[in-house]
Amino acid sequence: MLSDFPCNECGLCCSNINGISELQDYDQGDGVCKYLKDNKCQIYENRPEVCRVNIMYQKHFSSTFTKEAFYIENLKICRELQSNFGIPTNKLIKLDYIDKKQE
Ligand code: SF4
Ligand code: SF4
Repeated sequence: MLSDFPCNECGLCCSNINGISELQDYDQGDGVCKYLKDNKCQIYENRPEVCRVNIMYQKHFSSTFTKEAFYIENLKICRELQSNFGIPTNKLIKLDYIDKKQE
């Protein structure tokens, strides 16, 4: 079991927030969150719930997913975003955990 979500800080989720209704007011107009600076969240300690994977899990998904299954679904989205935006293969978020589970 992963102890925490293994984000590799690519920043792509925060720079593609168009379509996320909860973050409508955060979009600076081009899909990039106005609080993303130098690839870091400037309001990290106070970021909204939708940006917090563990809180989202606890509040909205724990009755339908195990935590590891929820992490896996999120990791797949990270990987898809990273592939779509041309992140080099050696910098893609590791899916070893998923691969191991699917062996
Ligand atoms: S897309 Fe995934 S790996 Fe990249 S910053 Fe967001 S959560 Fe982290
Ligand atoms: S508030 Fe922070 S974590 Fe949430 S999308 Fe903006 S930069 Fe990313």
